[in-house]
Amino acid sequence: MAVDEGLKGEVQKQGVYVTTWDELVNWGRSSSIWPLQFGLACCAIEMISTAASRFDIARFGSEIFRASPRQADLMIVAGTVTKKMAPQVVRLYNQMAEPKYVISMGACATSGGPFHKGYNVLRGIDRYIPVDVYIPGCPPTPEALLEGLMTLQKRIKERSMSSAVERKQNEYEIPEFGEAGLEPRYNPNIFKPLTHPIQQFASAKPTSPIQTPPAPGSS
Ligand code: SF4
Repeated sequence: MAVDEGLKGEVQKQGVYVTTWDELVNWGRSSSIWPLQFGLACCAIEMISTAASRFDIARFGSEIFRASPRQADLMIVAGTVTKKMAPQVVRLYNQMAEPKYVISMGACATSGGPFHKGYNVLRGIDRYIPVDVYIPGCPPTPEALLEGLMTLQKRIKERSMSSAVERKQNEYEIPEFGEAGLEPRYNPNIFKPLTHPIQQFASAKPTSPIQTPPAPGSS
């Protein structure tokens, strides 16, 4: 139930604070997001500097990078995800505490980045696990990661506690190496590949009202 903002302001002047259970819980959850401590490539250096004194991620309650997935609720995928590493990333995600979140940090984690044509590089971690916030850049700056963290905090505050419980992510299928690379190539429950814009253009039916005139002598 929403709190009447006018009434809330009035009683606050008297030193009385009124809130809802959801707001209270979400304030606590969004102010204590604990990331999993791991990095995959150069983006991880930016993630590490975000935790250092200059940028000080502790201001957001997220300085406690946990070495165990059981104690973490945020996975920051920072760096190039190789096909060799992808199964381990999904396994770690499966072992994290609910409710859990994923930030895809940088071009590599989101799409393969500069290595997207490499035979050994995954073209986006969202093929296997659901991503909450994407951060563009190669590499994104520490400020960009903090912006991504604030965006995640905002999203957590917008959800009710019951919807967060309902949104339980559970475990996702861990890909394995087959004859043609990782199998499955993506998880169809969470990844819906887009048709390439050029293919869309080629297959689109003409919509122009202009009709081609019949060739002379054809009728
Ligand atoms: S996005 Fe750029 S900086 Fe980040 S891991 Fe890839 S190559 Fe490195």
